[in-house]
Amino acid sequence: LARNPGEREFHQAVLEVLETLSPVVRRHPEYADQSVIERICEPERQLIFRVPWVDDKGVVQVNRAFRVEFNSALGPYKGGLRFHPSVYLGIVKFLGFEQVFKNALTGMPIGGGKGGSDFDPKGRSDGEVMRFCQSLMTELYRHLGEYTDVPAGDIGVGEREIGYLFGQYKRITNRYESGVLTGKGLAYGGSQVRKEATGYGTVFFTEQMLAAAGKGISGRRVVVSGSGNVAIYAAAKAAELGAQVVACSDSSGYVVDEAGLDIDLLRRVKEVDRARISAYADEREGARFVEGGDVWEVACEVALPCATQNELDADAATTLVENGVLAVAEGANMPCTPDAVDVFQKGGVLFAPGKAANAGGVATSALEMQQNASRDSWTAAHTEERLHQIMAGIHESCAGAAEEYGTPGDYVAGANIAGFRRVADAMLALGVV
Ligand code: NDP
Repeated sequence: LARNPGEREFHQAVLEVLETLSPVVRRHPEYADQSVIERICEPERQLIFRVPWVDDKGVVQVNRAFRVEFNSALGPYKGGLRFHPSVYLGIVKFLGFEQVFKNALTGMPIGGGKGGSDFDPKGRSDGEVMRFCQSLMTELYRHLGEYTDVPAGDIGVGEREIGYLFGQYKRITNRYESGVLTGKGLAYGGSQVRKEATGYGTVFFTEQMLAAAGKGISGRRVVVSGSGNVAIYAAAKAAELGAQVVACSDSSGYVVDEAGLDIDLLRRVKEVDRARISAYADEREGARFVEGGDVWEVACEVALPCATQNELDADAATTLVENGVLAVAEGANMPCTPDAVDVFQKGGVLFAPGKAANAGGVATSALEMQQNASRDSWTAAHTEERLHQIMAGIHESCAGAAEEYGTPGDYVAGANIAGFRRVADAMLALGVV
């Protein structure tokens, strides 16, 4: 704590992992002898830099940007960039730390990192977003490379922003290095299914978890929080598998649509019009918007928190349990507070932590890197099939590790242990670096 003062979310993420590792260290004292735990909690490199840019009124704005290159034992640093006013070092470090274990769980050759800026894209014109992205990349490019560090999107960073970032990288370096960023548009080296992958993967994991408990997702009532990239495609896949997705949200409130969300309308409102979620209710008969409300008030059997960290607390978890929730899978990173996770686990709810449930996004980013490296592009069906296999593999690793270390059915412990062991073994093999 004293070493990283004020980094609340980072402390929370580290504690959550370390709490589950004592049986591993007991069985493998070499991890303690070689200070693997201390090393794994310390980023390999952290960058903080100024991003000056000119807004549409000609005024110079200044933002702060970060890139935390956390661990490269398994491959180049890999993890998204977040643009949100709440971004500071503690958020980027928590996300980078989680990313290390998540990426290990995918079984792909990718290390962990994360970045972002306190830039708020809301209400900014395309031109402003482009100038901001260009300025950010003018510093960041020197730290990137397909074998070094490969960013992607996250909150506030989608295909538009990745396009501007890639354009500037290409211009500065004079290299068409497709594998330096993922989440690219299909027109310039992107992968089919990358945009959908995190949400789809979360639902695939949920399906696996329900199946292991002898249950299915079809016909279930589902609530999703958020209405961004992850939320939209989690809702879409759940609906495709026969679930009834009845609510989603944004930071202004939530919509309830008992007829089941109209995914095409949701996509238009959020992806094309970039409007608030209330616009969905304005256009859809029978749907209602609850301003400032908490979406977890809506009863459901499957809850998919897909917005942001610490959005679902113990009170919300208690409401969900009282309303009969069976399964919760984190599409977002650390959306459930530790107390909420406790409520779910004690209440017998199947609970999938983000580092397992939302790993489909980064896994498909690694598939995008594979396609770029081989100058190839795969069909949507093939890519989705690979994603499905990867999620099944992650489910198996988590369930297997939980069983092996004496906590069967505990996906939190299972994910932490399986992810940790893969990274830790690589770190041991590489020596004290
Ligand atoms: P988007 O920016 O596309 O969407 C974020 C959604 O969450 C929006 O609906 C937004 O509402 C809401 N939201 C964001 N911050 C807050 C807040 N402080 N309070 C309430 N609502 C909020 O981001 P993504 O969908 O890409 O990311 C969502 C989560 O998933 C994040 O935790 C991210 O780290 C995680 N994730 C994303 C991956 C990806 O591939 N994109 C991969 C793995 C994890 P509003 O517009 O009102 O702010």
